[in-house]
Amino acid sequence: MRIAFIADVHGNLEALSAVRKSLSSQNPDRIIFLGDMVGYGASPNECIELIRSIAHDAIAGNHDRAAAGVYSPEGFNPNARAAIEWTRSQLTQPHKEYLASLPLKGRIADALYVHGTPLYPELWEYIFTVFDAYEVFNEFSEQLCFVAHSHYPIAFIRERETGSVESQSPLAIDLKHGYRYIINSGSVGQPRDGDPRASYGIYDVTQKQYQLIRVQYPLTFAQQKIIEAGLSPMLAHRLGVGR
Ligand code: ZN
Repeated sequence: MRIAFIADVHGNLEALSAVRKSLSSQNPDRIIFLGDMVGYGASPNECIELIRSIAHDAIAGNHDRAAAGVYSPEGFNPNARAAIEWTRSQLTQPHKEYLASLPLKGRIADALYVHGTPLYPELWEYIFTVFDAYEVFNEFSEQLCFVAHSHYPIAFIRERETGSVESQSPLAIDLKHGYRYIINSGSVGQPRDGDPRASYGIYDVTQKQYQLIRVQYPLTFAQQKIIEAGLSPMLAHRLGVGR
């Protein structure tokens, strides 16, 4: 069985459409969405519809909850907050209710998945460093945990004997028996690792392999739509630099 993990689409329909095309050639058995369908980008309703039509399961991100009106975007930076307010004004009522109904974590095969961290997903904590990851390995018992939220593709690997934790920029990983993994497949709609291409991952449960996939998309269209919607030009600019 092969499972695709996609996350952090953030209303970027151009990136999501390119990833959907890539997914049809990859043909995974399951597609799991790891949160943040909306916020930042100019096509929130269209992205929700497309994700619902392709994903076998979806969990909530902080922007989904905020756009649904069930979480306060107080802690968001001014651009993110303005984007949430704009998104709220655009979303249909059924889409708001759908976003509000999404769970905060899920399980498939030997993997847990969550937008932030497993123990208190509602706190929306980030896993940036090996020190963060070291703590988070104590929060779940599965061999793997797939996460999102930082928009940065990375894998944290916990060694079997010593329990030491290392990070790796993953293009491909062979998963080893007894080792444990926290894997972030990056962001479809707003990558922040300096590579503007859309990012997602495929976990091959049978072969015990993980692969990161990058997909080029027409990002000038996405940028143009952000500007035309009256959202911050910074949100358009960052797509071009992947930050
Ligand atoms: Zn996000």
